[in-house]
Amino acid sequence: GPVLAIESSCDETACAILAPDGTILAQRVVSQDGHADFGGVVPEIAARAHLALLPGLVAATLNDAGLEASALALVAASTGPGLIGGLIVGSGFAKGLALALDIPFIAVNHVEAHALTARLPGLVPGGAPFPHLLVLVSGGHCQCIAVEGVGRYRKLGGTIDDAAGEAFDKVAKMLGLGWPGGPMLEKLAREGNPSAIALPRPLLRRAGCDFSFSGLKTAIAQKLAPYGQTPLPRQFAADLAASFQQAVADVMADRINHALDMMPQAGLLVAAGGVAANTLLRTTLETTAAQRGLRFAAPPLRLCTDNAVMVAWAALETWAEASRQHKTPFTDTAMRPRPRWPLEEMAERIAAIKT
Ligand code: ATP
Ligand code: MG
Ligand code: FE
Repeated sequence: GPVLAIESSCDETACAILAPDGTILAQRVVSQDGHADFGGVVPEIAARAHLALLPGLVAATLNDAGLEASALALVAASTGPGLIGGLIVGSGFAKGLALALDIPFIAVNHVEAHALTARLPGLVPGGAPFPHLLVLVSGGHCQCIAVEGVGRYRKLGGTIDDAAGEAFDKVAKMLGLGWPGGPMLEKLAREGNPSAIALPRPLLRRAGCDFSFSGLKTAIAQKLAPYGQTPLPRQFAADLAASFQQAVADVMADRINHALDMMPQAGLLVAAGGVAANTLLRTTLETTAAQRGLRFAAPPLRLCTDNAVMVAWAALETWAEASRQHKTPFTDTAMRPRPRWPLEEMAERIAAIKT
């Protein structure tokens, strides 16, 4: 039977239902309003909104799929990493549903869900077989990861300060754009000249594949300083947005080349996370992969940012892997939500399953 999944780790309240083969039967995402006025996600507002939205959202998603809850075989939810209030609400709701239906509950790592999205059947031509290099660029993460199998992740490098999405959001804020800033910055950058304003390329050509964005942020603050409180000329703001985006893309290409050197067995390059929705970054990664004779795969835009399809798919992949290890059936009802849950701990997680 189908799997129903809930996503509530940040400010998207989402529900999806997938058939056992990964076919999407229904999916809904509500991007909460009520945070924009604060210039960022307010955890308490998010948790309350998840609580208010979930019952109706789950009923509507079941209705979209033409299913009764009794037809479900599995229930899943993100249980971390993320904002603890929302995680408690979403996973509590999902556990309750699973207990009422007497079916297993599967705890899903939100970042692993981003990471496995490209493997959803039929999503990217040729699929995303293991082993591959994953570039995870989201609101909270910026990492190069060697993906060797479900639950088998090796971090090759990561950011030493801000996450990629965080940098986009902060620069957007400095340019007076709304929130979340990533998509708005990308839109403004289309009107700008990417080589108009000289900006640094942090860590370019350094050994390894770490990232850094704080120097870039400081450089932009310096370019903005002469304007003080006066409104920015539109063209200047657009040029700055385009130059920032180009700097990130240049650094990304360089870092990923280093990561691919560190992982010669990688069959392809996969991008995941909200920032992977950025067109310039996607084309840059595609070119970087092509130059090395590698294929590039990234989920469609709406599956890059937070959604429940990826949570349902990660649950199915976890279930399949556990089954391969003769560990099904199992249930994670006893598993608690957690604000931190590093990918490196996912191998232990499957090993620890008791049937
Ligand atoms: P995490 O998954 O690490 O816990 P998150 O769930 O907040 O963090 P995502 O939903 O994966 O992150 O991504 C949201 C981030 O992606 C935001 O920082 C947003 O600005 C950024 N983003 C979304 N679209 C774009 C875009 N087109 N260009 C650049 N950044 C973007
Ligand atoms: Mg969000
Ligand atoms: Fe996310």
